[in-house]
Amino acid sequence: METKRPVEKDPRQRRDDLIVITGGGGFIGGNLAGYFRKKGFTRLRAVDKKPLGDWYVRVPGVESICLDVSDPVNCQRACEGAVEVYNLAADMGGMGFIERFRIECLRSILINTHMIEAAYQAGVRRYFYSSSACVYNTLLQQDPKVRALKESDAYPAMAERGYGWEKLMSEMFCQEYWAERGLKTAIARFHNVYGPHGTWDGGREKAPAAICRKVIEAIDTGRGEIDIWGDGTRTRSFMYIEDCVKGIDMIMHCDDLIATPINLGSSELVSINVLVSKVEKIAGVKLKRNYQLDAPKGVGGRNSDNTFIRKMLHWEPSTPLDKGLAVTYAWIKEQYLARKKGKRVVE
Ligand code: NAD
Repeated sequence: METKRPVEKDPRQRRDDLIVITGGGGFIGGNLAGYFRKKGFTRLRAVDKKPLGDWYVRVPGVESICLDVSDPVNCQRACEGAVEVYNLAADMGGMGFIERFRIECLRSILINTHMIEAAYQAGVRRYFYSSSACVYNTLLQQDPKVRALKESDAYPAMAERGYGWEKLMSEMFCQEYWAERGLKTAIARFHNVYGPHGTWDGGREKAPAAICRKVIEAIDTGRGEIDIWGDGTRTRSFMYIEDCVKGIDMIMHCDDLIATPINLGSSELVSINVLVSKVEKIAGVKLKRNYQLDAPKGVGGRNSDNTFIRKMLHWEPSTPLDKGLAVTYAWIKEQYLARKKGKRVVE
């Protein structure tokens, strides 16, 4: 972002700096807590509104608190003593959720309004915001053979209704808290993230997890068929969770990216049909495909242009889809079989 503010150097990061992660009971937040723990950080606080028993990941040694951060008082509690805040809390899900529950998605503005203010009031050193590729102008995403989206493609704005507009507005908060108040903010626009410990059933799951589950079900039940939303030609890119958490860390700590939205996504574009074929190959099966043309489908195509992240960080998410999908498939199969045996699993 263009700003006249000089960027003051941070004090040296210490392993006992308190790191707060909201949405810590969710997919990316839970994995991020595990990532920082592995890196040797000793004081981590994960915050989520879900009861602790429903968290996707509980990382040993991480303070886990059940709080609703759409409430300003809870945000103050969440940010107490924090050096860095990673705000990943949002009411969200795959296309089926964000097309159907636009009001819920819009209400995340409360989380983002109160969290950034509480972080600022608490004097945190840096604040991370998880934005989304859904901020991009939908008119640029109608064709499956889409041109990859670069950061400037968010404006003129015509974001995904509900979810995308809320993200765009919350990005602006991050930019203005830096410009007006000097809070160092980081803004990453995630493109579809997948991997172990993500939602895989229940209506909020995204395409990779949904397809893995459907293939597992088709094999288990002997149905031999799979239902696919849309006609299978829509295209997307999918980023493996390990790339996502590493990218969050790098973006958050790059002085040249303060208050500057940046893509965090894979640039390996595949159609939904190709995604299904990849999962079938992992599972060693070939299924009859039933295309559900009335199901939620989202934009025609979406890919991440990684020119900017390569330039700024000399890095980009690069886990091949085949590799990440194999791990994800194995994890979902394990959950599926455990649930079948009557064990309680988080879906
Ligand atoms: P997730 O649903 O697994 O995690 C979000 C967590 O936030 C959930 O556990 C939920 O309970 C919690 N939450 C919701 N409202 C809350 C509140 N008021 N107070 C406290 N906690 C609350 O989702 P995720 O995939 O981990 O996504 C994390 C962030 O990344 C979100 O901001 C999401 O919009 C963004 N994002 C994710 C993807 C993706 O592909 N997963 C893509 C683009 C952007």
